[in-house]
Amino acid sequence: MTTATKKKATSAGATNNPLLAPWRGPFKAPPFASIKPAHFGPAFTQALKAHKREIADIATREAKPSFANTIVALEKSGTLLTKVADVFFNLSSADSNDALQAIERDIAPKLAQHQSAVLLNRRLFQRIADLYERRDALGLDSEALRLLERTYKSFVRAGAALDSKSRKRIAEINTELATLGTAFTQNVLADEQAWHMMLDGDRDLDGLPPSVRDAAAQAAVQLGKPGSHAITLGRSSVEPFLQYSARRDLREEAWKAWIKRGENGGKTDNRKIVVRMMALRSEVARLIGYDTYAAYVLDDTMAKTPAEVRKLLDKVWPAALRSARSERDALEKRARAEGENFKIAAWDWRYYAEKERKARYALDEAEVRSYLTLDNVLDAAFDTAGRLFGLVFEARPDVPVYHPDVRAWEVRTKAGEHVGLFYGDYYGRPSKRSGAWMSSYRGQHKLAGSVRPIVVNVMSVAQGAPGTPTLLSFDDARTLFHELGHGLHGLLSDVTYPSLAMTNVMHDFVELPSQLYEHWLSRPEVLKKFALHEKTGKPMPERILKQLEAARTFNQGFQTVEYTASTLLDLELHSLEDTSGLDVDAFESEVLARIGMPAEITPRHRIPHFQHIIGGYAAGYYSYLWSEVMDADAFAAFEETGNIFDRKTANKLKTFIYAAGNRQDALDAYVAFRGRPPEIEGLLRKRGLT
Ligand SMILES: [Zn+2]
Repeated sequence: MTTATKKKATSAGATNNPLLAPWRGPFKAPPFASIKPAHFGPAFTQALKAHKREIADIATREAKPSFANTIVALEKSGTLLTKVADVFFNLSSADSNDALQAIERDIAPKLAQHQSAVLLNRRLFQRIADLYERRDALGLDSEALRLLERTYKSFVRAGAALDSKSRKRIAEINTELATLGTAFTQNVLADEQAWHMMLDGDRDLDGLPPSVRDAAAQAAVQLGKPGSHAITLGRSSVEPFLQYSARRDLREEAWKAWIKRGENGGKTDNRKIVVRMMALRSEVARLIGYDTYAAYVLDDTMAKTPAEVRKLLDKVWPAALRSARSERDALEKRARAEGENFKIAAWDWRYYAEKERKARYALDEAEVRSYLTLDNVLDAAFDTAGRLFGLVFEARPDVPVYHPDVRAWEVRTKAGEHVGLFYGDYYGRPSKRSGAWMSSYRGQHKLAGSVRPIVVNVMSVAQGAPGTPTLLSFDDARTLFHELGHGLHGLLSDVTYPSLAMTNVMHDFVELPSQLYEHWLSRPEVLKKFALHEKTGKPMPERILKQLEAARTFNQGFQTVEYTASTLLDLELHSLEDTSGLDVDAFESEVLARIGMPAEITPRHRIPHFQHIIGGYAAGYYSYLWSEVMDADAFAAFEETGNIFDRKTANKLKTFIYAAGNRQDALDAYVAFRGRPPEIEGLLRKRGLT
């Protein structure tokens, strides 16, 4: 369950399984070259056995429970399991193959079963509960007290305090949910891999700028069809196509395939899986004492209740709808001006929005891209970390990586102190699941000396043709900053206990460090210095900077509607008190009709491929918006000083947010940084919804 320590969990010396041997290379990073899929099975078996033994040992101790012999011992347990699982799940997300997928189907339910056995262990819970009752008399410092409270709460929330029959049922459900969740994710990947569209000749490429053509050529190479062009269902392939392709018929075809992921009938259809998962989740919630799964999840967040989330959404939704409607009218006018007489359809929106943007702000996305090479944007993101937090990123080609596309950097303080290791894995490929994320190969803690983290950022940017730089859209560049924001939340972590470290915070707080970091990208101070033209090396001209600033809230109605619609689907789905008779299609249509969803916009994620809510964001997709209230308000703290790199503000940000993990309550942490709770006005202004 957590990372840690010096306890010898195994006697791995005799084995030639690299997952079980000590890692001796630079920074003790995983020796990827020697790790083969076949190593995972035996490594998991041994690691599970070791952790079981450790847990039994803690639970059955004769000695009276103490913080050290119970809570710290628990933190130190499972070292090997964490080490193996970190490597496995990172690889199965970023560079999967049939062998890893088969292992995942096998191991996911076993891990769930194991985790249930730990969290529902009665004797272990009794020791934790005993300590919790006496917590004020134990003489703990504030971080230790926080850990005890969080540990107690996580056991209670897992069902540890229930009778044995309920505990047994919860364990069964968790195991089944793990199997279903794995199937769901693999089905989406299978649907994405199963579809591509070949573009034959100039007629099919009509409207596509050189960068999108190059990316399509690269995608064709990856599909084994060099010399042609292909569009795939990766966001970085299909979105630019929808934005630029003048071929309305092809746009419709691509769009329909995109929104049907997980809903194509047959073996990869996710609708039945969703129905079963919702029934199981709602059963768990009731067993633990909540009316709905949403109420259960939200009880352990900043928002606390579904009603609080709705309050925020109610402020945003009508304003977003109003903006989206007037955006649609403008797009329809634009289409008519071009001699078209159809109503804008969902597959037209991005295309005409691009034209509208060009006409209204003279802003040309393709021109913007030519200033945003991947390397320039990385330099900008690293430099920002230097100016805010005094960090230096040094490329380390000697560090082993898991795929030739991956690059490694050592992160140090300006004084030369080691902070952590950072992997960047930016190019899309069929073996990678879609989306962008941050994860880690090693957590930070201080239970065995100072253990520093290994953090990874993964994106799916379309790689430039050989010999040409990879160009990012402004959105891609923003995503890169976003993920590095999460990365810094991991790298700067400075806490004692692994369970409180890095991004182990409440899920409606975790997007604050990432979304806040995006703000620096859009600032002229940063763009002028780093957005250099791919060919001439000239800085982005004042004209484009002004255009970008003017167009900042362009299409925000659309973006807010597509995001918030998914948020509402998530919240409504997990607020069902009775899930019997759930029909995913009917449910989705009914919710969208009720909220007045414009026909021209589709939710950013439809339920059959909504991976966030199958993974860790169930009843939690609102978190981005909740965190955005804070990020808009937090960036204003810098603006108010007149210096977006203000030293004093940056130091507070580091101490109370980026380095602090879950050391204190999220709202308290925010107030410690800002001096007051967050205010929503910044968010509405940022999105142009006031
Ligand atoms: Zn994020």
